[in-house]
Amino acid sequence: MSSHNFIVAPPRIEDREVVKPLLCGPGPCDYWPSVEKALSKPVLSPICEELFKVLEDIRVGLQYAFQTRSKLVMATSGSGHSGMEAIISNLVGPGETLLIASRGIWDQRALMIATRYGIKTKVVSIPMDTTFSLAQLEPELKRIRPAGLFITHGDSSTGTLQSLEGLGDLCHKYGTLLLVDTVVSLGGVPFFMDEWGVDGVYTSTQKVFSGPAGISPVAFSARAEQKMNSRKHNPPFYLDAKQLALQWSCDGVTRTYHHTLSSPLLWALRACLQELVRETLPVSWARHAASTAHFHKRLREYSFEFLIPKPEDRLATVTTVKLPKGYDYRGFVKYMRENHNILIFAGLGPTVDKALRIGIMGVNSTTKVADAVADAMADTLRALKKSSL
Ligand SMILES: *Cc1c(COP(=O)(O)O)cnc(C)c1O
Repeated sequence: MSSHNFIVAPPRIEDREVVKPLLCGPGPCDYWPSVEKALSKPVLSPICEELFKVLEDIRVGLQYAFQTRSKLVMATSGSGHSGMEAIISNLVGPGETLLIASRGIWDQRALMIATRYGIKTKVVSIPMDTTFSLAQLEPELKRIRPAGLFITHGDSSTGTLQSLEGLGDLCHKYGTLLLVDTVVSLGGVPFFMDEWGVDGVYTSTQKVFSGPAGISPVAFSARAEQKMNSRKHNPPFYLDAKQLALQWSCDGVTRTYHHTLSSPLLWALRACLQELVRETLPVSWARHAASTAHFHKRLREYSFEFLIPKPEDRLATVTTVKLPKGYDYRGFVKYMRENHNILIFAGLGPTVDKALRIGIMGVNSTTKVADAVADAMADTLRALKKSSL
């Protein structure tokens, strides 16, 4: 033993204290107190009855959250991107075409993922501060007849909410599956998977759900299931929805081991869903609408300007705001953090140097938080005025 030469000595890894700011960016969000408790519940082994009970609780909770009767409801082990990668790689094969409705950064990510799987991509774009109408999408669906259409419901890079009503029917008319990102919208604004004809959808737990990142709920429609049963390609093993469905006992019977599911993340997701079903969807949607309306009223009082011109396009979970000429977005965010201990974000993708992004969502969707953030933003505007002029 002692004859080994250690080329790396034990490093110093000391205790580290972190002052947590109020998390008001477009994610991650703060935890529900019940989530904090859930994170320390007992470890569940991959094949034990308790685990399958927890998975069942999560499945029924997610059917409620997504508003779907589909049994193909589960979660991938990874952050929101793993959900994105799962629905794309399971539903569109190499050589098939994915039409990407582009207005922010998440559709750009979908494009990068699809390209890596050898999927052909076509992009239909609109200005980043607007949303799509069915009339803008139909000619593309008709001309290209893609295997899938990818679209983001709530876009946290721009602060827009895409209407999805009627889009499923339109896609199905042209043999296209509808793939939707609801990472920053689910639970905060209305979403009806079955009614809107959505075929593949994912979300993540660190946004409106107010839980930890690292587990992503996904759901597939009957049409999506048909596609998976007849597909010629193999998606990556780790994200194969057919394999995951066996582990998640989507049929209510099968109990298999695919990979070790993270117990703390399962317990946390279950706690998030308990919060949601206790509050109910309509009450949660109304709370988000009310606290954001209040936030916007306060921002108008302080003469902030919204990035998104049409009020009906604005997302109730993430607000984008323009700063007057001469202000530096990153400097503004830094001042908020250092002087008010509030974390908001500068722009991302198409909104870099064009907007601040503020998330009033999940556990933080209250008028109290909205007031605190608006007041801190007004103070920051005043404080930085001199240096920017
Ligand atoms: C945050 C976010 C993502 C990415 O999620 P990760 O958990 O960071 O992988 C995807 N889509 C939207 C709309 C988001 O807001």
